[in-house]
Amino acid sequence: MLYDNRKVKLNDGRSATLVLPNWFGFKHKKVAEKFEGDLEYMASLSIKGWVYAVYKAHKPNLQKGHKDFVLMWVETASGNPKTFIAGMAAAEMDEHRYQNGRLCRSCNEIVYSVDVHDYRHCSCETVMIDGGKDYTRCSQEGESVRIDFLTKEITV
Ligand SMILES: [Zn+2]
Repeated sequence: MLYDNRKVKLNDGRSATLVLPNWFGFKHKKVAEKFEGDLEYMASLSIKGWVYAVYKAHKPNLQKGHKDFVLMWVETASGNPKTFIAGMAAAEMDEHRYQNGRLCRSCNEIVYSVDVHDYRHCSCETVMIDGGKDYTRCSQEGESVRIDFLTKEITV
């Protein structure tokens, strides 16, 4: 699994590292070059039971019917991995852009569980989280935070 870890500031002023799994291993720079719209990788998110790599289009071409967000994913059911792409409007993304995470006070990492069977722990293994967005369970250690992947705000 590749990661796109990012330094973040919490709303109370502390700094931390947000652990961002790159679910499909897409090379974001190449994706941004290949598709128009000035794409920026947001996160790997589970939406209605499927995991997507979500990109924000800073300049969507509305005349071509492009949306504010680009969703990419890989299906391997046929044996040959195939990449798919879809669009999502900002209003629809509003209910998917948040996720609960867990902050470790020892190693200062924030982890989140992408999907139901996605078990995550911080690098010092003090804090764990599992169950994705809908069945979240986590260790007693650490602090719960709310992640807004769009604005990059982390709220304690
Ligand atoms: Zn830790």
